[in-house]
Amino acid sequence: MQMRELFNTPKGYKISNFENNPESLDIPIEPYKKKKAICSGCGEIHTKGYHGFEIIKVRDLPAVGRKVYLHVKKRQYVCPKDGKIYVEQIDWIKKKEDIPIDLLKMFTV
Ligand SMILES: [Zn+2]
Repeated sequence: MQMRELFNTPKGYKISNFENNPESLDIPIEPYKKKKAICSGCGEIHTKGYHGFEIIKVRDLPAVGRKVYLHVKKRQYVCPKDGKIYVEQIDWIKKKEDIPIDLLKMFTV
């Protein structure tokens, strides 16, 4: 089984590293370059104005008795509509809590 499947990595993202800590599994993931960022200011895709990125930590389902944290790379863009900097909008982060059931079964069989 691939790591990506095991941890239910969202579509368009790759695992860039892996930290196996005593208390938790920390998994940094980042978007593939071809996956376009959606501006959280106006909801559109900007191909110019890349500003940088920030890393946010998202709690995933526990695996092998440990907490799992995804460290998600969020890109930032200068929005041409108002000239402000926005991070990309990532819908699956909000839905993350709803996903788990199938994944949970894998670990409880
Ligand atoms: Zn925008």
